[in-house]
Amino acid sequence: MLELKPIAVGDREPNKPYIIAGPCSAESPEQLLTTATALAAQGIEVFRAGVWKPRTKPGSFEGVGAEALEWLNQVKKETGMLTATEVATREHVEAALNAGVDILWIGARTSGNPFAMQEVADVLASAPETPVLVKNPMNPDLELWIGALQRLYNAGLRRLGAIHRGFSVYGEQLYRNQPQWRIPLELCRRIAGLPILCDPSHLGGKRELIAPLSQHALDMGFDGLIIESHCNPDCALSDKEQQITPDVLGVILENLVYRNSNSSADYESLNHLRSQIDYLDNELLDVLNRRMQVSREIGRYKKAQGMPVVQASRYDKIMNQRIKAAEALGMNPDFMKSVLAAIHEESVRQQLEIAD
Ligand code: PEP
Ligand code: MN
Repeated sequence: MLELKPIAVGDREPNKPYIIAGPCSAESPEQLLTTATALAAQGIEVFRAGVWKPRTKPGSFEGVGAEALEWLNQVKKETGMLTATEVATREHVEAALNAGVDILWIGARTSGNPFAMQEVADVLASAPETPVLVKNPMNPDLELWIGALQRLYNAGLRRLGAIHRGFSVYGEQLYRNQPQWRIPLELCRRIAGLPILCDPSHLGGKRELIAPLSQHALDMGFDGLIIESHCNPDCALSDKEQQITPDVLGVILENLVYRNSNSSADYESLNHLRSQIDYLDNELLDVLNRRMQVSREIGRYKKAQGMPVVQASRYDKIMNQRIKAAEALGMNPDFMKSVLAAIHEESVRQQLEIAD
C-alpha cells in the first residue's frame, strides 16, 4: 500500500479530468508559444513538450535539448500554464528542475529500464515534492511498471501518477500501441489511489483515434488525458500523424462526456453513444485485420503443403457454429450469415493471392 499525495496538476474542478496537452517535441520558441497560447485559450492548464526525444533510430529529430527548457519557462510566464517534460537521465532531471519545470514524466523506453529508473529516482530524492508521471513500459509488463513507481516512492516521492500509452507489438495494427486495458486497471487495483492518465496520442498513433480512445478511457474511470497538440501538426518534427491543432483538441474535449460519480444522467447523451460506436467500430476493424493476417498465414501453410485454399467442410462448420453462437446472443442469423460469408470470401481471396 503506497501512501500517495495528489499530483497537483492545475486547479481541477471536481469530476473534471486532468488534461495535459502540448506538442510531442519542443521545436522552436515560436512553435511552443503559439501552441501554448492557443491551448491556454482552450482552458488547458498544463503544457507538455518533449525536450529530449528517445527515438527508435538515430538520425531522426532527437529534440533540441536543454535549450528548450528556457522556452518552456517563457510559456509559463506568458500563459500561466504549468509545464511538463520527459526525463530519462540524471542530467535531464537536474536541468529540468533547475529550469523550474513543474511536472516530469518518465517515458515508456525508460520506465522499463531499472538502471535508468534508479538513477532518476536517486536524483529526484533531493526534490521529493516533484510530481512525476510514469508511462507504462513498452512491453506489457505490469511488474516493471509497478517497479518503476516503487523506485520513485522509495526515494521519497509521493506525488506520483501513471500514464497508459499502450504496448508495443510487432507488425502493422490499427493502434500504434495496443491498449490492453486490463493492465492499467490491474495497476490501479494494485496501487490504490494512484491517479492514471490515458495518452490516446501514443496509443492510437492517429488523429482520428484520439476522440474514441479518450472517451473510452474516461468511461473506464481514468483520471485524465495527456494529448499531443501542435500549432501545425503536418509540419511537426516528430509524431506528426498523431498530433492535432489546439482548435481540434478543443472540439474533442467539448464533445467528450465526463462522467460524474454523483449522476448518471449524461450516460444517455447521443455523443456518448456515438463515441462508443466509434470505439467499437475501431475494435471491429482491428479484429478483422488480425483475422486476415491469420488467414494469410494459413494461406502460406496451405501453399507450402500443396493444399487447396477452400475446404468446404471447414467452411460449413464455421458457418454453422458461428450462426448458432450469434443466435444464442439474440442476433439475427441471416445477418450473421452474410457477414461471415463476406469475411470468408475475402479470406479466400487473400489466400489465393498468396497461392498465385
Ligand atoms: C512522448 O510522450 O512524446 C513519448 C515519447 O512518449 P512514449 O514514451 O509514450 O513513447
Ligand atoms: Mn510523441
